[in-house]
Amino acid sequence: MNLKPCPFCGGEVTMQYTGSSDWEVDCKTCPVETKFWVSAQKHGYGKGEADEAERRWNTRSSEADQRDAERLKEAISDAAYEWEKYVTEDNAPVSLVTYMERAFDAAMSAQSDKEESNG
Ligand SMILES: [Zn+2]
Repeated sequence: MNLKPCPFCGGEVTMQYTGSSDWEVDCKTCPVETKFWVSAQKHGYGKGEADEAERRWNTRSSEADQRDAERLKEAISDAAYEWEKYVTEDNAPVSLVTYMERAFDAAMSAQSDKEESNG
């Protein structure tokens, strides 16, 4: 199986069949684990349901990444705008909003560079 990494920490994950069409994904690095159900009747017993479980995890992973990134960016911006309200030009010569957004973008592009080099 070629599984995408954990969307929370980027760690390697394992997937196993736990019975009754349930599949479980565990992160090796952080405490994240998730379970989902794949219809063997619909997708085929054995390889069919394993392929569907793999496809579903890999799809979910990238969608969750994007949602998490958007949420994080919003949270950072909100916090920064909130902070700016209480700070005058005298003690904040550089805009914290600009600073934090640049820092965030740099972190995100570093992350995607890392993902691309991992294949
Ligand atoms: Zn993890």
